[in-house]
Amino acid sequence: MVYMYNIIQKLFPITRSLSGNGNRETLNYLKENYLCELNIKEYSIKDNTETFDWTTPYEWNITEAYIEDENRNRIIDFKNNNLHILGYSEPVNITIPFSELDKHLYSLESDIDAVPYTTSYYKKRWGFCITHRQREELRKNPDKLYHIVIDSSYNKNGSITYGELIINGLSDEEILISTYICHPSMANDNLSGIAAAVAAAKYIYSLYERKYTYRIIFIPETIGALIYLKENIDHLKKYVKAGFVLSCIGDDGDYSCVHTPYNNTYTDRIVTHVLKYITDNPKEYSFLERGSDERQFCAPLVNLPVCTLSRTKFGKFKEYHTSNDNLNFVTAAGIGGGINYICQCINILENNEYYKIKTVGEPQLGKYGLYPTISQKGSADFTRNMTNIIAYLNGSNSILDIAEIINIPFNNALDIIKQLDNSHLIQKA
Ligand code: ZN
Repeated sequence: MVYMYNIIQKLFPITRSLSGNGNRETLNYLKENYLCELNIKEYSIKDNTETFDWTTPYEWNITEAYIEDENRNRIIDFKNNNLHILGYSEPVNITIPFSELDKHLYSLESDIDAVPYTTSYYKKRWGFCITHRQREELRKNPDKLYHIVIDSSYNKNGSITYGELIINGLSDEEILISTYICHPSMANDNLSGIAAAVAAAKYIYSLYERKYTYRIIFIPETIGALIYLKENIDHLKKYVKAGFVLSCIGDDGDYSCVHTPYNNTYTDRIVTHVLKYITDNPKEYSFLERGSDERQFCAPLVNLPVCTLSRTKFGKFKEYHTSNDNLNFVTAAGIGGGINYICQCINILENNEYYKIKTVGEPQLGKYGLYPTISQKGSADFTRNMTNIIAYLNGSNSILDIAEIINIPFNNALDIIKQLDNSHLIQKA
């Protein structure tokens, strides 16, 4: 799983946004190094000025942005950290006193050494994000002049870029995995989601046989989800059986989820089950605490069974949307845990079947070598679990149903089912 951490390191410096060359570079990197079947798509802005109720933003690119003093010392340079630029800033080239410049600065009084991540997608303005400590220092000389340069462009004939990977399975029914690619240099939000989605794809490819078809998408948050829905909503509504948004899934904190609006879908059940055994302290948030693309996928007229999976949920860690969400905040162990989380959900989806016991009355397990002839620590538990599973194998309970009834992890129940199957004691219902 170390290579997943390498993806985060590699993609960290790239300037991403809702659109632009950084997003293309990010997707090309994934395609060239990990997902050769990734389809990189361009959604033309000129042909789609409206996306449902939203105005599609122009494609934005930026090559340079800095603030220099009268001695041409660059006191802020976007090349050192792309969080310094207000996302979607308009181009400028002016010299103004600090008192004017101050109106275009964004900083955090609550964390004076962090650079905040700030954007202005839908109102044209320009600005820089700096530490509050630096801003306070500059405020001591309000009349000092600064030269401001932002070399950015808007292209109304451009496009919004996203990635789509379809991995076919035996069934037309689909599992949707969605993550976003629109944040610049921050590791947990959102590079961890990209790394976990790549790892999930690798895991899905590694399965000997796939029950479901998988649709893995890399989209800019919100507008990208709306674009994807605009192009695919009928298909998604017809075929998506379960879905996951991956967000902030690489830190060492909690394991958490955001449930669907009524917490009543197959996805909700699977996520709750996985969380119960992956951590002693699962955090299950209701849809009232939504914030990522579950907002679009679970909206009333869309209504897909999509939960969001996180380690520490967006907004619940102090590094969130600042320069402190860096390569130290996400760890190899943290992202490894996040990958395990999504892969366990996939494992349940792939293996959750209905079986029926063949014998009338209880089977005589000893005949099949399934009953220990010697009593030792643990063997009683195993036998108890096996007889309990048999007691519910009536053909209308799935393995997940039974694991929940008898209160054991899905994988333990699956192991026992495999042994019963090898002994020809059960059949698929
Ligand atoms: Zn974010």
